[in-house]
Amino acid sequence: MRQDVASFSAPTASGKRSSADGDLARPQRPSTSGAGVVDATMFATILDSMGQGISAFDASLRLLVFNRGYVELMDYPEGFLQVGMSYEEILRFNVGRGEYGLDDPESHIRERLAKARASEHLTSRLEHRRPNGTVLALRRTPLPCGGFINTYTNITQRKKAEESADRNAAILQATIDNMADGVRVFDKNLRLTMWNRQVFELFGFPADFAKIGTPYSTFLDYTIQRGDYGSDPDRETLDAKLARAKNPTARDIEQELPNGRIVEKRRNPMPGGGFVSTYVDVTEHRRAEQAMAKQAKELALASEELKRSNDELQQFAYVASHDLQEPLRMVGSYCQLLQRRYQGKLGADADEFIGFAVEGAKRMQRLINDLLLYSRVGTKGKPFAAMPMQQVLAGALANLAVAVEEAQAEITHDPLPTVWGDDVQLTQLMQNLLGNALKFRDELPVRVHIGIERDGALWRIRVQDNGIGIQPQYADRIFMIFQRLHTRQEYPGTGIGLSICKKIVERHGGRIWVEPAPTKGSMFVFTLPASGDTPCTEQA
Ligand code: ADP
Repeated sequence: MRQDVASFSAPTASGKRSSADGDLARPQRPSTSGAGVVDATMFATILDSMGQGISAFDASLRLLVFNRGYVELMDYPEGFLQVGMSYEEILRFNVGRGEYGLDDPESHIRERLAKARASEHLTSRLEHRRPNGTVLALRRTPLPCGGFINTYTNITQRKKAEESADRNAAILQATIDNMADGVRVFDKNLRLTMWNRQVFELFGFPADFAKIGTPYSTFLDYTIQRGDYGSDPDRETLDAKLARAKNPTARDIEQELPNGRIVEKRRNPMPGGGFVSTYVDVTEHRRAEQAMAKQAKELALASEELKRSNDELQQFAYVASHDLQEPLRMVGSYCQLLQRRYQGKLGADADEFIGFAVEGAKRMQRLINDLLLYSRVGTKGKPFAAMPMQQVLAGALANLAVAVEEAQAEITHDPLPTVWGDDVQLTQLMQNLLGNALKFRDELPVRVHIGIERDGALWRIRVQDNGIGIQPQYADRIFMIFQRLHTRQEYPGTGIGLSICKKIVERHGGRIWVEPAPTKGSMFVFTLPASGDTPCTEQA
């Protein structure tokens, strides 16, 4: 239960203490709060009911008045404070319990006594942090007849709030200091309240702008004079800028500064007015984008050029091989005529020479036929349609019937899918691969297995044989035109078959490669678009 403790004694003109029921209880002057006559008990009650702590000392620094608030805020033991006790006695008690820290207690006492004695001449506001963490604001008011009144207000909560606000501000400042972006904050009166070094570096603002309160217009004027907005920005534009800063909305713009740097500016209005702006130097980013766009354009031009020259080459190969056929047929047939008519009549050498000419003409015919076939893949292809691979395989095997028989081939396969493509070319593809498997054999019977695997929107088809195999270092070379790993004497051929396969597969949007077969022989793998999925368009 609360106990009234307010005690007082009226000061005399000489500063000496009088009886406990002195005149102080009765205000001598009219009260600004309009109070009437107050007796000592009422006065004590008023003092005790105050949230603040009150203590008054007379001119000789003896305790004149104190209230419960003072006892509680300062944690004085019950009965310790007595009207008439000296200020020094109270100080010594406080020093003894570590109220002012532990260092040099005498100097504390001296200092505080000196201040108290000087108090008639000054009104001071002090803050006292108690060892238990309570923070008291101390207000000292001199009394007319000497001495002073101390008022203690508990400001612990306010202090905590201030400290927490300071801490948050420090965290915020440290955060923006560590950001790569520049940051500026303007309050509702468009005065600078927060910033980081980066924004000054980015814009090259003078260092003396970096202080709280610098107006937004100072920055604006500076950038105008420097020419950030052109050599002669019209007044309207600038007024519009100021007006926008006064009523900010979220916005995001990019600006090239006179020094060539490109800055992305972002403005976010703050509740209650003002705005936060962040600035990112996007120069390198934009330069890289521009370089990439330029490269992409150059690449597009180059690939267009490549396509054009490829088309021309294709056309040339086609026309050349087509047109060469006729004179070659003539050379071939006249050589054969010579052979038939003059065989054994012109001597052994002549027979041999004519034999070479006939053989050469035949080989050239085969080469030109294959070349024509190759150039036709790109120029004479049919539109794509759903094609059962079973049908493709049957077509290829029919064309290879003699070779299959000769190789005693055993050709097996997984259940075959339907693909999306040109039936003639797909038959050609299978025929070339199976033909090679039969030709580059190592033992009889030749065994070929066609395996199937799904690969996303594609089918992956493997043609695996038990033939002579291919060394891995030749895996790329064999797909080039006219590239062979054997002489014609060892294995006949022109070296075009696999390049035709590659061209066909690529026209269908797939890929072809060779891998060593798991046991022996080789395994050609290619992918084709599955039918039923989004059909793939023909590749250029
Ligand atoms: P060609 O069959 O007319 O020689 P290809 O372009 O079809 O031309 O093949 C190129 C080369 O790849 C062949 O000469 C051969 O050395 C090698 N090759 C192709 N298929 C096979 C296979 N199934 N086994 C071993 N080698 C092969």
